[in-house]
Formats: sequence, structure tokens, C-alpha cells
Amino acid sequence: MTIDAPVEPTKTYDAIIIGAGQAGPSLARRFSAAGMSVAIVERHLFGGTCVNTGCVPTKTMVASAYAAHMAHRAADFGVTVTGGVRVDMKAVKSRKDAISGQSRTGIQTMLKGLKNCTVYLGHAAFRSAHEVVVAGSVLRANRIFINVGGRAAVPPMPGLDRIPYLTNSSMMGLDEVPRHLIIVGGSYVGLEFGQMFRRFGSEVTIIEMGPRLVGQEDEDVSAAIHDVLTSEGITVRLNARCISVGGEGQNLIARAECDRQSLAVEGSHVLLATGRRPNTEDLGLDAAGVNRDARGYIVVNDQLETNVTGIWALGDCNGKGAFTHTSYNDFEIVAANLLDGASRRVSDRIQAYALYIDPPLGRAGVTASEARRRGHSVLVGTRRMTSVSRAVEKGETHGLMKVVVDGTSQEILGAAVLGTGGDEVIHCVLDAMYAKAPYPVLQRAMHIHPTVSEFIPTLLAELKPLEDPDH
Ligand SMILES: Cc1cc2nc3c(=O)[nH]c(=O)nc-3n(C[C@H](O)[C@H](O)[C@H](O)COP(=O)(O)OP(=O)(O)OC[C@H]3O[C@@H](n4cnc5c(N)ncnc54)[C@H](O)[C@@H]3O)c2cc1C
Repeated sequence: MTIDAPVEPTKTYDAIIIGAGQAGPSLARRFSAAGMSVAIVERHLFGGTCVNTGCVPTKTMVASAYAAHMAHRAADFGVTVTGGVRVDMKAVKSRKDAISGQSRTGIQTMLKGLKNCTVYLGHAAFRSAHEVVVAGSVLRANRIFINVGGRAAVPPMPGLDRIPYLTNSSMMGLDEVPRHLIIVGGSYVGLEFGQMFRRFGSEVTIIEMGPRLVGQEDEDVSAAIHDVLTSEGITVRLNARCISVGGEGQNLIARAECDRQSLAVEGSHVLLATGRRPNTEDLGLDAAGVNRDARGYIVVNDQLETNVTGIWALGDCNGKGAFTHTSYNDFEIVAANLLDGASRRVSDRIQAYALYIDPPLGRAGVTASEARRRGHSVLVGTRRMTSVSRAVEKGETHGLMKVVVDGTSQEILGAAVLGTGGDEVIHCVLDAMYAKAPYPVLQRAMHIHPTVSEFIPTLLAELKPLEDPDH
């Protein structure tokens, strides 16, 4: 069906939502509860990336990988596993499919049950600033909300058009353990899949163009992550230039120039983990007059309004976040502003995210290097997890924790907890940051023993000026 050939009369709603990702369904629920008529359009799977090919399935698989890892380590804890440890990849996939499917069905059922909400299946595209066409129907509303998310970016790499490469989406169909998984890209997605499949039994090589893994983190954090992965037998090749791929079937090869040496890695599977791009090129944005930036992200203001009155963009497609929690926070901002008379802004939120390798990295605010670049008088408290009793007791002593503060204003600027429970522990710092508490407040808090969090006050009592890398 083309945009020019609608077969049904125009249907008018108070609001149209394009995409049932992490913001759209919650917005539909709020609008419905407020008595508005809503149309929500989904062209593929309810719940979008997070539920189907992102957070939910990967974290489910990370849990299987952790179980395999701990089974291999059982003897360290005085536990005997007889008969060896075997990973049944079909069972891992079924568990993942069941958990992901439950979440997807839950969203779909919720939307279909909403009062005054019509669910459309199909690709939506603008016909004008107030009209959207989907599967032959023209929908009209004065308020339109775009929540179309993104997908894996496929770089122009020589040979890619001739090999059966994988992305985070096609990885979801794997029900065998690859003999050797070659991963192009050493950031969040690549590292999570890398460690997970190493623990399932694959040989894993990660090829990264930059000089270190997760290059936006502080060097000590990045180095500790590198150690975690290589200690499990993952090969990491950095400074890779001119990456190309070739071969056929399960005899694939990735070539690159690494540190002035030629690299050729033979493997059975190639995963591309080289970033994301927004799903905005086939939305008919020109027909609506909505602006995109050079990378395709929809341009929005601090309250998520586009340049066209009555059109908002939420989630990954607006380039203001790349996480489920940022998309959901976008929903909260828009709903509060439209329905509760609030004036919430994106700039009120503090950057926070996690990297779900094991141990996980929890991050809040800025890194120490970024704090220095911004001109703060930076104080840092750091501690290796080998000196954290809870980590020692659990036999999980990889990683480090650090807190970054401004020595003059006493403001907490950021923190990183790479260690057991790091994704949860980070919230005690994050919440103090939201409360705008000067760091002595958190330093004097009594935390529970034995926990990783009990060392956050200790770190704050041991602050030192950040060393100048040039001296
Ligand atoms: C491997 C991986 C792991 C991740 N892990 C995490 C994690 O642990 N924690 C975290 O916070 N984030 C994680 N993320 C990121 C997270 O998945 C995304 O940030 C989040 O899903 C973005 O939500 P969204 O609402 O912007 O869009 P999406 O969830 O992508 O949803 C967009 C929806 O819009 C639909 N759509 C697109 N175009 C149209 C159209 N024209 N018409 C109709 N429908 C359309 C799509 O089909 C999709 O369902 C991960 C991502 C990946 C790839």
C-alpha cells in the first residue's frame, strides 16, 4: 500500500503514537486514562528493541552465561559438579524466548485492552503534519508522538555484502554455540555478547577500532573491563584499521591492520556491534516538515517537541538517550507536561547506565576525565574490588569502584562501580546526585555490612585530587 492510495476514510484521534517501544505504550495508557482517543501503530514486534532484541533477551542470556560460569567455578566454592558442565543453547534460547515473549504479549494485551485506544499493525508514515498513513488507513490527530527507535548500524565494510553477518537482532535466532565468534566493535553490545558466548563455550575475538574498549569510560575502568574479558580467554584486538571480512558459510575471516601489524582472524560467525542508527528515513518526515540532524536523529527541544507544533519525538530516535530508561523518562516528561501541567525537561536528568558484563559496570554522571575537561577541581575516591569484603566473600573480586566530586562545591559529579552488584550499587550515588546532596552527606551515611555499597562512604572519606595525565 502506498502513501498516496488510502482505501478507507480518514479516522480522527486526539493522539497518534508511532511505535510501541519503551515510551509509546505507557503514553497510550496515560492518554487513555485521561479520556483521550488514541491510535498506536506498530510495524513489527510490541515492546521494540528492549523487549525483543535488546535488554530483556540479552540480560536473560547473560543470566544463563553466569550460571555456566559459576558451574565451571563450582570447585572454587567447595562444590563438586560431576559429569562436567554443558550448555544447551537450544534451552538457553527457549528460556530467552519465553521471557521476552511474555513481556511482548503483556504490552500487546495491555494496549488492546485500553479504552478508546486503537492498535494498528503496519508501517506508519506521515502524509502531512497532522496525518499518518498505515496499511491503507489515514489517521489524523493534532498531536503525534514518534517513538520509532533504532536498529544496528551496518558500516560500509568491504566484504560484508558477501558474508552472513549477525547483528543484535539476528543473534536472537542462534540456537547453537558458535565455534568462534568474531565481534566487530568493542563497546556495550559487543562486550555483552562477547563474554556471554565465551561462557557458553565459543572462542571469541573482539576487534575494536579505538585504542581501548568502551573508550568513553575513564582509562582505569576501561582497563579493568579489558582484564575481566581477557582473563576469561577472550582475545581483544585494538587499534584496528581497514577492517574487511570474507569467506563463506561458517568459514569466515576478518582482516584488519592492528598496531601496524596485519591481522587475520578465522571464525565461524561475525557479529557487527558498531553502533545504532535511528529508524527515521522511511517515516515521511519531510511531508510533515519535521527536521532531522545529519545522523538522522529527529531534532527536539528540551521538552521533546520537534520543530513542528503538535509533533513530539521520544526514545532513541531523538538522539537524547540510547537506553530503555531514557525512552521511558521521555514518556514521563511528555506526559507530565501535557497532562499534569508540569514543565519537566530532558536536561534535568542525570546520565546513568549499566554495562551488563559480569561483573557489571554501573555508571552515573560524568567520568573523572570529563569532569576535568569541564573545568572542575576534581577529587576522586577509588577502590579495587579486591579490597571490598562482600566481593571477596562472593569470590567475585574483579573491577573497581570510584566516585568523582568537585572539591570546591562538594557536588558529586559522577561514579563508576565495576563490580559485583555494580548496576544496583550505583543508585545510592545517583539518588544523592538527584537530591543535590553535597558529598559529606553521603560520606556520613551508615550503610549495611557486608555490602558493596558500604564502601561508597569510605571512598568519599579517601578523596584525592585527580592526577594530571600530563605530569
Ligand atoms: C543488544 C542490546 C542490548 C541493550 N541492553 C540495554 C539495557 O540493558 N538497558 C537499557 O536501558 N537499554 C538497553 N538497550 C537499548 C534499548 O533497547 C533501547 O534504548 C530502547 O529499546 C529504546 O526504546 P525506544 O522506545 O526508543 O524504541 P524501540 O524499543 O526500538 O521501539 C521502537 C518501535 O517502533 C517501531 N517502529 C519503527 N518504525 C516504525 C514505523 N514507521 N511505523 C510503525 N512502527 C515503527 C519498531 O518496530 C519498534 O517496535 C540495548 C540495546 C541493544 C541493541
